[in-house]
Amino acid sequence: MADIDRLKSDIDEIVPDMVALRRDLHEHPELAFEEVRTAGIVAGRLRALGLDVQTGVAKTGVVGILKGGKAQPGAKTLAIRADMDALPIHELNEIDYRSTVDGKMHACGHDGHTSVLLAVADLLSKRREELNGNVKFVFQPAEEVIGGAEPMVKEGAMEGVDNIIGLHLFSNYPLGRVGVRSGPTFASADKIVLKIHGKGGHAAMPDGAVDPIVIAAHITTALQTLISRETSPFSPAVITIARIEAGSAFNIIPEVAELQGSLRAYSAEHRTKMVRRITELAQGIAAAMNASCEVDIFDGCPACVNDPTMTEAVRRAAESTVGAEAVDTGEEVMTAGSDDMAYFLQTVPGCYFIVGAHNPEKGARYPHHHPRFNVDEDSMPIAAEVLTRTALDYLKS
Ligand SMILES: [Zn+2]
Ligand SMILES: [Zn+2]
Repeated sequence: MADIDRLKSDIDEIVPDMVALRRDLHEHPELAFEEVRTAGIVAGRLRALGLDVQTGVAKTGVVGILKGGKAQPGAKTLAIRADMDALPIHELNEIDYRSTVDGKMHACGHDGHTSVLLAVADLLSKRREELNGNVKFVFQPAEEVIGGAEPMVKEGAMEGVDNIIGLHLFSNYPLGRVGVRSGPTFASADKIVLKIHGKGGHAAMPDGAVDPIVIAAHITTALQTLISRETSPFSPAVITIARIEAGSAFNIIPEVAELQGSLRAYSAEHRTKMVRRITELAQGIAAAMNASCEVDIFDGCPACVNDPTMTEAVRRAAESTVGAEAVDTGEEVMTAGSDDMAYFLQTVPGCYFIVGAHNPEKGARYPHHHPRFNVDEDSMPIAAEVLTRTALDYLKS
């Protein structure tokens, strides 16, 4: 049998186990840094495959190393990453593998990612002798709080790694399609807090006060000019003021108004520029109106930026898996959402791609983080095949 047919039939063989494990994880969701049961299953399975396993990386992360049979000293190492955490959401799906924990749910598909990556570990272990390098399987905790990837990097998970790949199953992207794009894909996400200090007074006597509400309104409107007037039409970014808090009564001008919002960008340069300009604009407008403005911009997650060479490798594997006509490389692959895979991609060149899991016929039609979120599990063998093919191609002798 040809190699390619053998991979397809090997995957067919493990689909029932891959789906059963995903459903088991779905029934037992664990929140950020509490993935003890999940990490235990992952470590147990990796050990059973004969891998070197490290546990307790960034609290509940697990790393497994598969040494290729043809790997010489100095051979390349490819990391493949999955996230393991669930969300504080009460599941409303009526399915027989519904979450058994009130208020916790795998509502982003990370149960699928974990199960897919274990299947890939199985497939690649069976081909260990063909591999001219090593594979590091990285199971990270706490993606949903943007908390797991960065400490894993700090604790050495990327040491000795040359490149990294990973994927997100997407419930809003059609089943059967794979989206892979060079450059930015997921946006950076920073929290903006602006505190305008005016001078309180009587609503009937504004001349004796400095009204922070009027200033807040001016700043809110002016911030949008950073997008419409200072951002290239070809380089998207988002500024949203989502919360305004001020005042206590209809006839009192308050002392303080607070604005909170979100900044999304797709490159480090753009992000840095926007942070600087938000600060200048807010403080400048406040000063011009006799007030002051305290600016706090809390660093969230950086943007996920894909390396052209690794993107090309994944694209080839995706085309072999689903056919060229089912692979997207355009803007449909971008999202203004963020993902802490960005920290791994900052450390080593890599590619983060999406695999379609949307299928209304099976109820997989709700957005991520929705209490009725689900994926079409037929996306999982596709995901496993793209990852495995990319690794085989990367480590072929
Ligand atoms: Zn999520
Ligand atoms: Zn996610």
